[in-house]
Amino acid sequence: MSRPYATDEQYERWYIGECCRCGRRKNKAGAWPDGHVCRTCFDRALRARGACPGCGQERVLPGRRPGDGAAICPGCAGFSQSFTCARCGFEGKLHGGRLCTRCAFADRLAGLLDDGTGAIRPELAPLADALLAMENPLSGLTWLSPRQGRSGSAADLLRRPGRGEIQLTHEAFNGLQPWRAASHLRDLLVACGVLPAIDKQLCAFERWLGIHLATVTDSGHAQVIRRFATWEVLPRLRARADKKPLSTGSRGYAVGQVLRATEFLQWLSGRGLTLSGCRQADIDAWHAGSCENHRSAVRPFLQWCMADKLTGRFQLPQAVTGHSTPMPDHERIEHLGRVLAGHALPLRTRAAAAVVLLYAQPASRIVRLTVDDVTCEDGEVFLRLGDPPSPVPGPVVGIVLSWVRSRTNMRTATNRNSPWLFPGRRAGQPMRPDYLARLLNEIGIPTTAGRTSAIRQHVLETPAPVVADALSYSQGTTARLAAQAGATFSRYAPGDHDRSPSKETHDCLVAPGRAPCCR
Ligand SMILES: [Zn+2]
Ligand SMILES: [Zn+2]
Ligand SMILES: [Zn+2]
Repeated sequence: MSRPYATDEQYERWYIGECCRCGRRKNKAGAWPDGHVCRTCFDRALRARGACPGCGQERVLPGRRPGDGAAICPGCAGFSQSFTCARCGFEGKLHGGRLCTRCAFADRLAGLLDDGTGAIRPELAPLADALLAMENPLSGLTWLSPRQGRSGSAADLLRRPGRGEIQLTHEAFNGLQPWRAASHLRDLLVACGVLPAIDKQLCAFERWLGIHLATVTDSGHAQVIRRFATWEVLPRLRARADKKPLSTGSRGYAVGQVLRATEFLQWLSGRGLTLSGCRQADIDAWHAGSCENHRSAVRPFLQWCMADKLTGRFQLPQAVTGHSTPMPDHERIEHLGRVLAGHALPLRTRAAAAVVLLYAQPASRIVRLTVDDVTCEDGEVFLRLGDPPSPVPGPVVGIVLSWVRSRTNMRTATNRNSPWLFPGRRAGQPMRPDYLARLLNEIGIPTTAGRTSAIRQHVLETPAPVVADALSYSQGTTARLAAQAGATFSRYAPGDHDRSPSKETHDCLVAPGRAPCCR
């Protein structure tokens, strides 16, 4: 393309100027009554709306009143250009064809989701509706804009289901690349009801399994691993997912089982053996050379091999279960003090940390709290972690309530009315537990040890079944902690022993996904 200017000097004169709003020398984006404005100031000015102090009309307020600099409407400021959408009449930033952001986004979507007849594929209409309803359509338009030097953009992906190149099933999405964009699109399709709801971790495991199997070079090994995953690992994951959403720990544990099984087969091959030729001495040798995590992770595979008669019968070494070291109480109080006083810390981190330290809740439980779980009664604030709701102590009330009012990640397409106390970045999803745990770890709060210690304190002060009910922990976990901490169930009223603990149990302290590997 030929340049419309002859020299750099001419370019400088024609296109660059001092912005009358911010004073920087930038590309001129518009000649407004008060001077040239840069792109940043142009866009910012067109986001201001309200009652114009000059004429009283509700309008966009990009102008500046001479004298006091108050934001005024284009009419009062004497703009020669109009900011009214040629289609819907909305006043604001205009795109190609003099269309407002929402109309431009609608056109872009209609083009992408077109099934070839000039209309959006009917099955995808709910997706288009959900996207168009987002509070800030500019983020949608940006999402669909091509990125320089990057292939496989969101727009490319969105075009394919429209044309029928991708089936609208979860299976079709499992192998799709780039997987991050595909996963986001799948979340949106689930959120608007085009795809049925599915457990995220289960999905992630299935995707991972496909990739892993492709890397197993020995076809015999790949076949055994595929059978093990299909008939042993996946059914157990599915059964758990039917009861409650899987945690990243559960997925990590399943991944570990498949990895250890694969390694075990490779190890056997290295000794010139196959499964059928494996003897007790080989099993003992493998166990002797492996760490505790690997030993417990390979156990389900070996049991499955025995049951399926792929091997003879073996004696497997006893499984050892580890317990995390509790955080000393003074340390917990110190952390809590730091969270309460740490006004410079992000509010989200402070709110989550306070809940972890006070109520001994794992991250996977905290992320599933909704705003409805925060209740006010007679001036007291409660957090519904179980039944009855737990009172929120005075100093933490401010943090929790401010957080409820100012949750982040609320402006994207399907998160507009997110019920989650900690909304995630992905459509309709809460924050991921590992992400939340990482936020807390970043400020020096070890999440696993933290909740052990917090519940230990509760156990000493309140009988375990009451704590279990209030905190929704399984009774077994609290009972074990009670024994460790020197309290016993006998202190609890004898008549109440048949009272059932909360039906809902959460990841016990020794979660299945504890440190998946020592690598
Ligand atoms: Zn500027
Ligand atoms: Zn006006
Ligand atoms: Zn419009």
